[in-house]
Amino acid sequence: MSGHTPSATDALAGSLHRIFGFRSFGPNQEAIVRALLAGRDCFAVMPTGGGKSLCYQLPAILLPGTALVVSPLISLMKDQVDGARANGIRASFLNSSLDPADQGGVQRELLSGILDLVYIAPERFALDHFREILRRSRISMVVIDEAHCISEWGHDFRPDYLMLSSIVDLLPGIPVAAFTATATQRVQEDIVDKLGLRHPFVLRASFDRPNLSYEVRFKESGDAQLVSILKQFAGQAGIIYRTSRKSVNDTALKLQKRGFRALPYHAGLSDGERQKNQDAFIHDETDIIVATVAFGMGIDKSNVRFVIHADLPKSIESYYQETGRAGRDGESARCIMLFSNADIPKVRFFIDSMLDEQERHRALAALSKVVSFASAMVCRRRMLLEHFDETYPRDNCASCDVCQGLHEVFDCTVEAQMLLSAIVRTDSRFGAAYLVDILLGSKNQKINDFGHDRLKVYGIGKGHDKKFWRRLIDDLVARKAIGRSEGLYPTLYLLDGGARILKGEERVEMQRIREKKAAAPASKSGGIESLSLEGKRLFEQLRLLRKKLADEQGVPPDVVFSDRTLAELSDIQPTTPEEMLAVSGIGEVKLARYGGEFLQLIARYKAQWL
Ligand code: ADP
Ligand code: ZN
Repeated sequence: MSGHTPSATDALAGSLHRIFGFRSFGPNQEAIVRALLAGRDCFAVMPTGGGKSLCYQLPAILLPGTALVVSPLISLMKDQVDGARANGIRASFLNSSLDPADQGGVQRELLSGILDLVYIAPERFALDHFREILRRSRISMVVIDEAHCISEWGHDFRPDYLMLSSIVDLLPGIPVAAFTATATQRVQEDIVDKLGLRHPFVLRASFDRPNLSYEVRFKESGDAQLVSILKQFAGQAGIIYRTSRKSVNDTALKLQKRGFRALPYHAGLSDGERQKNQDAFIHDETDIIVATVAFGMGIDKSNVRFVIHADLPKSIESYYQETGRAGRDGESARCIMLFSNADIPKVRFFIDSMLDEQERHRALAALSKVVSFASAMVCRRRMLLEHFDETYPRDNCASCDVCQGLHEVFDCTVEAQMLLSAIVRTDSRFGAAYLVDILLGSKNQKINDFGHDRLKVYGIGKGHDKKFWRRLIDDLVARKAIGRSEGLYPTLYLLDGGARILKGEERVEMQRIREKKAAAPASKSGGIESLSLEGKRLFEQLRLLRKKLADEQGVPPDVVFSDRTLAELSDIQPTTPEEMLAVSGIGEVKLARYGGEFLQLIARYKAQWL
């Protein structure tokens, strides 16, 4: 002990450590906490995983009275309350999922002032009776989560939220804090205005998610590619996004057959089945969710280690949101998009069938941005952030496929000429599959019948496989060197660009992946990736113990400990309660509740290795 009088900073840091077990504040957290403690209104935009809950939970404990946290995500409230209680915070929730007796119970708790915080659904503020209870309770502050829901300009407007515009009058002198993960400047102004915030402390954090890595790969047909990617993530939680319900079902089924723990999720399943599959994911009972974009809203699983887009996302915003569900715990996580030019016509077809002209234009513009995101060889992170009007300050992010130099360009003009020549020599009457068969010298009857086995191009493409040729065709179509006819059996024909290539006036280049494995993004402090083999084994055992304890208490595993905490435990391997307290995410209450069992397991594990 150094013996000096602790400053205010030390006191706050002390509470942070004692309650949450964190060694330091994350970016921006301290500024918000201090503003709230000083009684100021706040407005904060922070990305998913930015640690918003701590920003209001810590002041909620330190300030006298009860903090109200308004959230539209009723399905999340129980987990949020469990999470808060696991750290010893006195929390409850109040929404329509409780029966009347329980609602009465929570209202009595509120009146008696024994709660640190209570999560509340917005519609409750319409009830006179409830407003009366608030007037008679001691409220420390009001937190509006998902605050963009109050703005008609936002993407998720909820009329219920408009009730909150009277909150400042209802509870005069009580600070109000609005949080959201998405708000343009316009939405921000609208929120501040509608809520009537008084000279708020405003914070706009960077949208960058440094622990996520981004990667776009050329999408191959068939399932082999997906399977080989998934093998790298054995036993880890992840989401695979697909466009249609049918493809969701197909992929889930195929993965199950190959022994993966995978479940489907889309709007076509019954409510019961959707809920069941979602719960299995949250409780670590399935590794993989194959889903349409219907999945994700209101899911707060912290240890999602990968998100794969097996089809093109609808827009850059949705891509950011969907990939944003990975790595909320701050541990590294990977976002992989499988992209092929061949997917574009499918999406185009869908967009062309839209009736509303404006909507069609918007969808087309969004598609073209996604395509340039996927095709341009520009840092993916930079492009994502630019979309949100943010400039990424570094030249090389070191954790996207472009910055890692995973691609190389190679000249394939000669190959393109082989293909174009095959098209010409067969009078533009055939489709891709047949042409590739000719190039590969396939012994198929149809080729014999047409006498195409006597063509000069027959068999000259054997140096490459089918995948290569299909991709070259997609690329040549995309660059308008060849055209593809409409109809059930599309045939290929030359366009001007193709003629120039054939005459040697234009060159063709293709990207390919270097045979180097993608490095995982730098995880700031140790992390699962950097564990030794022995550490990883221990990690697996700790995971099992976490699952057991979570099941006993009926809470999701990450309410017990996050992946980050388990990784640190595996690395440090503490043997005493004091050593355990030094691990990030273990505060006094969690130490008392879980410390014993984890210490025992670690001791047993270490004994094996002596
Ligand atoms: P958000 O609601 O902004 O998406 P959360 O509040 O769920 O983010 O926090 C994301 C993760 O970061 C959680 O696992 C949380 O425990 C962790 N976390 C928050 N603040 C800190 C901190 N100061 N140090 C370490 N981990 C933190
Ligand atoms: Zn990059």
